[in-house]
Amino acid sequence: MKIIVLKFGGTSVGTIEKIKKISKIVTSFVNKKYKVIVVSSAMSGVTNDLINKSRKISDNFNTSEYDVLVSSGEQIACALISGRLNHLGYKSRSWLGWQVPIVTEGTHRSSRIVSIFKKRVLAYIKNGGIPIITGFQGVNFENRITTLERGGSDASAIMIAKFFDAEKCIIYTDVEGIFTTDPNITKKAKKIDKISYEEMLEMASLGAKVMQPASIQDARLNRINIDVKSSFKNIPGTLITKRKNINKNKIITGISFTKNDSKVTLIGVVDKPGVAASIFEPLFKNAINVDMVVQNISADGNKTDLTFTVKSEDLNKVEKLIKNNKKIRFKDILITKNVSKVSIIGVGMITTPGVTYRMFKALSKKNINIQVISTSEIKISVLINKKLVTKAVSTLHNEFKLEK
Ligand code: ADP
Ligand code: ASP
Ligand code: MG
Repeated sequence: MKIIVLKFGGTSVGTIEKIKKISKIVTSFVNKKYKVIVVSSAMSGVTNDLINKSRKISDNFNTSEYDVLVSSGEQIACALISGRLNHLGYKSRSWLGWQVPIVTEGTHRSSRIVSIFKKRVLAYIKNGGIPIITGFQGVNFENRITTLERGGSDASAIMIAKFFDAEKCIIYTDVEGIFTTDPNITKKAKKIDKISYEEMLEMASLGAKVMQPASIQDARLNRINIDVKSSFKNIPGTLITKRKNINKNKIITGISFTKNDSKVTLIGVVDKPGVAASIFEPLFKNAINVDMVVQNISADGNKTDLTFTVKSEDLNKVEKLIKNNKKIRFKDILITKNVSKVSIIGVGMITTPGVTYRMFKALSKKNINIQVISTSEIKISVLINKKLVTKAVSTLHNEFKLEK
């Protein structure tokens, strides 16, 4: 039995016309004798709208109710897809996460799939049915509805491919594949034929929304090859696979960037052991993700400055938590909104010296000031003024000849 998992993102099911269109993609695989499992996201805009509603109800909306609320968009999309397939004469039905069931672990809003009980869905497939499974949602051991973090339908598709031993997993989206950078920011962005899990994970974690980072971890751990392609044009996309399957590596594979970051600097923090932990503990307890962190050397050995970045949506909460934190003392707090992190990613930089220098030099030539720097083995990130992101991405795209 050749099982194939087809995942459709929000824009691919964003209108009734699009749902009709992707239903034809589904039937084309059925006609090729594949047993198809469809995974769908919510129609574009629906999840955001539900989240906004929760915010209007409370700025501290109960997280288990949040999951019940925001997962509902997927239910609508799946019913519409199976309804269309029924209309075309195919046997199809929707399956909500808990009906499969897709079992998750972890906290609400960011659960991870741990197992999928496939018996009933499998029997349905064997009987010629096309199951349309809701992405993004599952059920936990307390029988509560959970969600998998934003963009989590990607993870649903990959874990379904794993548990059903699928031959293929195709992620249909609104771009033609994975590009050297977001094709919506520069026309020079070039489609990548094959990319390794490691590089894709970095690109996604550093802002490339095209794939959810957790889903790439799942794919890498389970060695699932992923095809990312357009739901509008039938042309080859990008294969996300293990490094061994890729024969040529460029120094830099891609450039990612974030959009809504803020920088917080605490001036004159007492420099003694445990201070950084006291600052970050309440943030961690409130599920606030701290990204770049830099601590200056203290000139007098007593006081230091500490800088970190957070998502702008968390800024008010962070400010409150820091100001109400009795365990720390500091002279002043400086906040810079509207900063962005731009990162270059590539396994090639491990063996090529001078990449950091080239990046900094290219940015400085364009008068782009670097506020914070962080590096790892296969990426270099810089924090800059948000207004300069497009310019910085284009500059680096040229510098590392990514359009070639
Ligand atoms: P879906 O609704 O199909 O899940 P997403 O909106 O989550 O789609 O992801 C697709 C978007 O990711 C594209 O429209 C594009 O703007 C963005 N994107 C960011 N970086 C990249 C990249 N390197 N390659 C392709 N797309 C990217
Ligand atoms: N609908 C969810 C979201 O917008 C999940 C997804 O799109 O993958 O985050
Ligand atoms: Mg997505």
